[in-house]
Amino acid sequence: MLLPAGARPVGLQQEGRDVLVVRWSHGHVGRHRVRDLRLQCQCAQCVDEWTGERRLDDGAVPADVHPVTIEPVGLYGLQIAWSDGHNTGIYTWETLAAGCQCAECAAQATTS
Ligand SMILES: [Zn+2]
Ligand SMILES: [Zn+2]
Repeated sequence: MLLPAGARPVGLQQEGRDVLVVRWSHGHVGRHRVRDLRLQCQCAQCVDEWTGERRLDDGAVPADVHPVTIEPVGLYGLQIAWSDGHNTGIYTWETLAAGCQCAECAAQATTS
């Protein structure tokens, strides 16, 4: 999903073990498989700051990885502490929106 200007999450909810539901101020209800969210981490440990190359090895992330705590960071993002001990990742609203896996966003991704 492309994020409208000023849109921000107004609610977060864990659905079962695997899915994080993000309610947005413009009405969108986003869904994220939590392990995919872990793999999308943009921090300096997971992505090379200079080359943009991904350093994170998918195989090193446990299949049952899940958020332990989710904290807002300023007015632009979320910091997620994960069950695998990783806690340096910040997910900006743009990153979250771009990685949305709800049915609507998934349909758009396959048709465009
Ligand atoms: Zn979506
Ligand atoms: Zn990271």
